[in-house]
Amino acid sequence: MLLEVQDLKKHFAVRGGGNVRAVDGVSFAVDAGQTFALVGESGCGKTTIARLLLLLEKPTGGAIRFDGQDVSTLDRKGVQGYRRQVQAVFQDPSSSLNPRLKVRMLLAEPLLAHGLGGDRTALQRRLLELLEIVGLPPGALELYPHEFSGGQRQRIAVARALALQPRLIVLDEPTSALDVSIRAQIVNLLADIQRSFGLAYVVIAHDLALVEHFSSAVGVMYLGAMAESGPSEAVFGTPRHPYTQALLGSAPRPDPDHPPAEGLIVGEIGSALAPPSGCRFHPRCPHAMPQCAQQEPVMRPMTGGDAGRAHRAACHLLDEGLAMAGVERVKDFAPTP
Ligand code: SF4
Repeated sequence: MLLEVQDLKKHFAVRGGGNVRAVDGVSFAVDAGQTFALVGESGCGKTTIARLLLLLEKPTGGAIRFDGQDVSTLDRKGVQGYRRQVQAVFQDPSSSLNPRLKVRMLLAEPLLAHGLGGDRTALQRRLLELLEIVGLPPGALELYPHEFSGGQRQRIAVARALALQPRLIVLDEPTSALDVSIRAQIVNLLADIQRSFGLAYVVIAHDLALVEHFSSAVGVMYLGAMAESGPSEAVFGTPRHPYTQALLGSAPRPDPDHPPAEGLIVGEIGSALAPPSGCRFHPRCPHAMPQCAQQEPVMRPMTGGDAGRAHRAACHLLDEGLAMAGVERVKDFAPTP
């Protein structure tokens, strides 16, 4: 497994006491050539996970293993090597690309910083190669970011992320700042690049249509914890957690057989400073039972498969007795009065 995240935690101390439990025991894994998507509402902790993967934050607990090595044990040289292999593409290329630099410098910068530029000819060849990979003409090298459209700027951001030949790219909402008409082009480009170079992606997205078509596995987060995870076809095809069902039900879907059902998720996500007792989703869950406010449900496998790939969900409705009774979908239950 290329990347393994195990029981990852990030708590932030707040003035006046207490901790914001932004990430509170999250596990997932992704292998070369695969895409793991993290989905959930704003404030669920997925962006903090991206920052932890990029070593922009230090975890409070748990482990990130890359190629079998715990990244917290890396020395300076090891961290440099990790940073070369793990790159990022952010939501808004207008703010992630320095507007004062021409594309030539934007693409050359990471190569030069890591001493991988080579001589002038080799550098020029590599820059042209990068432009070709992302579908931009050679003349783009002499232009500034503002001279491109939003979609083209995101292509430049992808080219810059590819410059160091990484093995994993963290894609943080890679299409949400773009026009709807451009999104599919960027998704197709990312998919082509993944096929060509065997890259692994961790994608963070609100856009469930993007996630469904683009990811091999998905994790649904709620208030810092994983509510459900597994292969995309299982999570999207037979969602088992009430939050996943509500999230999918309220997401706009292009499929006429699955029209959006408005208002399935009521209320606010709540505070990671004082998450609800028991199941964090219980104040908003239409199926909540008395035990839901007292006891935190644990992730249970819904199907067979190895631990990294099994379909898992954390909900008391899926606890042994109920799951054994042949209950297929939690929505078969009536809400507790
Ligand atoms: Fe709803 Fe209870 Fe399941 Fe939480 S554990 S999702 S509150 S039924």
